[in-house]
Amino acid sequence: MFRFIFVTGGVVSSLGKGIASASIATLLQSRGFKVRVRKLDPYLNVDPGTMNPYQHGEVYVTEDGAETDLDLGHYERFLGINTKKSDNITTGKIYQDIINAERNGLYKGGTVQVIPHVTNQIKKFIYSDLSNEDFIICEIGGTVGDIESLPYLEAIRQLSNEIGKLRSIFIHLTLVPFISSAKELKTKPTQHSVKELRSIGIQPDIILCRSEGLIPDEEKEKISLFCNVEKSNVFQSVDVKSIYEVPLKYSTEGLDKKILNHFKIKSKRNSDLKNWKDFNKKLKNAKSTVSIAIVGKYTHLRDAYKSIDEAITHSGVKNNVNVDINWIESSDLNNQKAIEKKLKNISGVLIPGGFGKRGVDGKINTINYCRKNNIPFFGICFGMQIAIIELSRNLLKLKSANSTELSKTKNPVVCLLEEWKNKRKIFKGELNKIGGSMRLGSYPAKVKSGSLLSKIYNNKKIIYERHRHRYEVNINYKSKLEKKGVIFSAISPYNNLPEAVELKNHRWFIGVQFHPELKSKPFKPHELFSAFIDSAIKYRDEVLKNEK
Ligand code: GLN
Repeated sequence: MFRFIFVTGGVVSSLGKGIASASIATLLQSRGFKVRVRKLDPYLNVDPGTMNPYQHGEVYVTEDGAETDLDLGHYERFLGINTKKSDNITTGKIYQDIINAERNGLYKGGTVQVIPHVTNQIKKFIYSDLSNEDFIICEIGGTVGDIESLPYLEAIRQLSNEIGKLRSIFIHLTLVPFISSAKELKTKPTQHSVKELRSIGIQPDIILCRSEGLIPDEEKEKISLFCNVEKSNVFQSVDVKSIYEVPLKYSTEGLDKKILNHFKIKSKRNSDLKNWKDFNKKLKNAKSTVSIAIVGKYTHLRDAYKSIDEAITHSGVKNNVNVDINWIESSDLNNQKAIEKKLKNISGVLIPGGFGKRGVDGKINTINYCRKNNIPFFGICFGMQIAIIELSRNLLKLKSANSTELSKTKNPVVCLLEEWKNKRKIFKGELNKIGGSMRLGSYPAKVKSGSLLSKIYNNKKIIYERHRHRYEVNINYKSKLEKKGVIFSAISPYNNLPEAVELKNHRWFIGVQFHPELKSKPFKPHELFSAFIDSAIKYRDEVLKNEK
């Protein structure tokens, strides 16, 4: 039987509703329940694909090729499952579907309205594509009180009314701020937020209070009294160092038991959080520190590279090190001096995915520096494409080599498939799958045996990784580059699209066209990240030894 858990947020944004939802799901999963987590985003963009990472953070790509909210990344990492296209919806998409239906005459001349048409469409989404889940956790984006959240709140109110309290629960996450001048915790914002919710007909069953420190009983009583919930249903969600501590904190507070009590159901098995405890223990007790640099364009906003950040944490734990990430703006690396200074104590450099011209020169210089100085280098998507530009310019001496994304060139070493498909036979399947304009989602790649990549992937012959890019490395330059020691270590099934490259005479220089960070999990770190961190540790130790 499906049961729905609706998670709303109040007072301010960025309270960590995604982590709260993922943590609740984790606790229920650890009790043997099948869970699903979904994100309902109230903005008008059809999907976050075209949104600026500064505003929206990373675009998370699912196996089935949807560009989604970064919270889906948390769901996958916490639960070890794959999310789907059908796990994220936006108001833009809902309106698009409704307007298409209206244009096609499906409303038979009726007036199309927010209630019931938009709310029905939201409910349809919540009920869609389910299969035997015990719990569906729906995280409602935005903050209660926002105009655009209203249709969602109305839809979940209706839904709960339809299926009843034994199949639905409202959990409201709020902020209980500490006012340092008064040395007091303040419950008023929570009271107001709940008042707002109740005014539209939703009485939260559980209030989850985010705060810097512990919330004393007295404050819980106040919240209970003013918000009309039992005191034992007021939970604290205290700030923690790592997001991976949150499920353990909630478990200690008894949040999962409370949820099961609400639904009047028994746990399927005893909660087992051993792997979470072990992970957190290792995270706190790293043996040493290794410094790596991430050279990119949105380094001021860590959310823009969320999955990379997390993948590095996972592989740091696996390698027993604390990874000190230096986020460097590539436009700060425009000359040799700046590079030497910024990369002085760095044991590995990662260039992540990206779009557009800004900062590209700094990235090319950085790759050149890593290549010549035998420093571990990991290029992801745009990072690999720029590595190909660097290798073509400096090894093949093609000074004009470039990506057609960045400039017109006689030597399009990276370009759109359409730009060179006539010169080479493309297999239909390959081209069709490319679709509109982006290669999105999971694709297979053949791994070259004997390569470093093959070793990293444990001699797997075919790997599946997720993509999100428009441009491809131009296969026509493959043999020339190979002659200069570049190994094309993975390629698409029909041998047209280079998927990974590495360098023969380098300790660790790998570029991949896909995004391995999207599949890394705390208990199953991605092998490429683990190998990268491992090579950085070895490099660090070697440098230390030589210094002695
Ligand atoms: N801008 C490049 C492309 O579209 C790379 C994209 C990315 O790094 N995700 O192909």
